[in-house]
Amino acid sequence: MKLVLATGNKGKLREFKQMCKEDVVPFSELLGEFEIIEDGETFAENALIKARTIYEKLGEEYLVISDDSGISLPVLNGAPGIYSARYAGEGVTDKDNLYKLIASVKEKGLKSTPAYYTAAIAIVSKYGEYVVHGWMHGDVLDSIRGDKGFGYDPMFIPKGFDKTLGELDDEVKRAISHRGKALELAKPIIGMLQNK
Ligand code: IMP
Repeated sequence: MKLVLATGNKGKLREFKQMCKEDVVPFSELLGEFEIIEDGETFAENALIKARTIYEKLGEEYLVISDDSGISLPVLNGAPGIYSARYAGEGVTDKDNLYKLIASVKEKGLKSTPAYYTAAIAIVSKYGEYVVHGWMHGDVLDSIRGDKGFGYDPMFIPKGFDKTLGELDDEVKRAISHRGKALELAKPIIGMLQNK
């Protein structure tokens, strides 16, 4: 079965390509770009919506994986959470969302505050549906440092480090990230489905 990734997010795609030994193709190469309405109430529901949508269009020869992810701040009651991609509004850029979250941290009068990333990876194939999760805990700052990674990375310091993900190398992020952890759980499932 061919492995297809149900995401148009370039940052996620780059990380998946670095982390998967097998060839993973973004859905847009097979179906062109289109928007998938993510109206679930959890990361898992939204990941399943994305993977099912692509699987239904491609059919039984394909194994579709998707990632729904985001950052949550306890001080903001878990926001932006599942709304991380549209925190600053509809049709905004990653930078708009980053600066909006910095403004929210500043509004609380904080220089830094605990935060965590969540990733739900859904796997959909003719053999059924699976979802796994990974988390990365740390703190967010009221400023940005570095330009590596994507999204909220330049304001996020992982637990046990003193640099942001904007300053740390890609390999470091891969080893500790929410996406890396979820993918470690997804890999044996993908392997098992491909050998059926
Ligand atoms: P999704 O594509 O609907 O899952 O939205 C995910 C959003 O969460 C992205 O647009 C980023 O803003 C944020 N996000 C998820 N994972 C990461 C990460 O690893 N680094 C930085 N931001 C992330």
